[in-house]
Amino acid sequence: MRDSLRVRLIALSAAVVTTIVAMFGVAVCYVFWRTLVGQTDDELRMRAVTITRSLQPVSGDTFDLNLPDDTQEYFQQEPYYGIWAPDHRVIDISDPAQVTSMPDVLGARLHEGRREISVRTPAGVTVLVGRDLGDARAAVRSLAMMIASVGVAAPVLSVLCGWLLAGRALAPIARINRTARAMADGDLAARIPIDRTETELGQVAVALNSAFDRMHSAMDQLRRFTADASHELRTPVATLSAETEWALGRPRDADAYRDSLVTCRTAALRIGRVVQGLLTLARADADELPLTLAPIRADQLVDDVVTLARPIAAQRQVQISTSVPSVEVMGDPERLQEAISNLVINAVHFNRPGGRVTIDGATENEALVLRVSDTGIGIASEHLPHVFERFYRVESSRGAGQGAGLGLAITKWIVEQHGGTLHSSSEVGRGSEFVVALPIDRHPAPQAQALTGLDAPRNTKTVR
Ligand code: ADP
Repeated sequence: MRDSLRVRLIALSAAVVTTIVAMFGVAVCYVFWRTLVGQTDDELRMRAVTITRSLQPVSGDTFDLNLPDDTQEYFQQEPYYGIWAPDHRVIDISDPAQVTSMPDVLGARLHEGRREISVRTPAGVTVLVGRDLGDARAAVRSLAMMIASVGVAAPVLSVLCGWLLAGRALAPIARINRTARAMADGDLAARIPIDRTETELGQVAVALNSAFDRMHSAMDQLRRFTADASHELRTPVATLSAETEWALGRPRDADAYRDSLVTCRTAALRIGRVVQGLLTLARADADELPLTLAPIRADQLVDDVVTLARPIAAQRQVQISTSVPSVEVMGDPERLQEAISNLVINAVHFNRPGGRVTIDGATENEALVLRVSDTGIGIASEHLPHVFERFYRVESSRGAGQGAGLGLAITKWIVEQHGGTLHSSSEVGRGSEFVVALPIDRHPAPQAQALTGLDAPRNTKTVR
């Protein structure tokens, strides 16, 4: 509590208010005291001048004093005077209890709590006039009391107002705190309620909420990813276990063992593919999959992919045709081959016997655009936006493909790592098209320069 921001703010403001009131009070009292003393000096000086004018030399060192009536009245009250001849002989003293001796120096002085003014006439007569400063002291004391009472009230008021204001100002921080704690306790759906977005704390809350959103979706993704990964691995692992149990159950003939081994190999290959895909994505997520860039000719890249896909295409009676310009791009040959290969293998897998796969290339806006289209089963519009998600597989296509739903996620990552884009369009029953756009290297190697550009020769082939 003592360390809370609210308490510290209030303590600070109360201390500042008290200091200001105290300094102000001291300054005002001092100025007031100086003014009162100044007024007393003026009054005493005027009376001293009246006395010097009222002195009449009679003979030798003898003087007559004829004070005006008002001055006499004045000195009948508390003020007093003393008059000394040039030889220090007393001429007159109004109140011997107050005036005991002739002053040593002329001018104003504070003497035993009283104010005194001494003047000397041209004839050498010294006149001292004085009065008590009790009234001035009382006036300053009551002013000081007044300021002190304000000085006490001001910090109390400042604490009260500060408590209310700080409470209101810090309420959003309390809300942020509560939400952050709820998040830390596992409530990922908790969000900071925002009343006003234009305030500084409102903007902080907006930024935190969007960070919470991202964290939530990352956690969701992670959960889904883990669940999907274990689901994908469970089936082949179960197959392996059941098949080996069966084979080891009792002695069998050679054909039965062979069939069992084939089943085991298929399951092992599937596990291997899933693990490989997971490893690639995990390394991609951890930024541990650096690209090794080199100039690549688009037609050669596609040729290599088609060469690898040819046996599967032949098996499925799918015809592959390519028309790709000899354009050069900068990229990681291995990764780009993997990306294009995923698209081509999908186009073959999700095709129908006698179907076609076309790989068309063109240069558009300084980018190499590769269109991989097929005449296959197509993807329904509700599934199309999700096919690039990890482990996403269209239910109706299960069994047609061999993959675990990681291929397009990896492909998209590779293309984007090259600064490119990947889009898809599809029609159920008619086929799909996946379009890869890769920026063309703007500074190609000198020997490759002739191959770059719109006029590059086109390499057209059809394989079966
Ligand atoms: P998989 O390894 O299972 O093929 P992908 O990530 O490559 O995973 O593809 C995800 C899903 O998208 C596939 O399971 C399939 O349902 C669908 N798909 C991808 N390419 C095609 C295509 N050319 N035609 C029809 N469906 C496709």
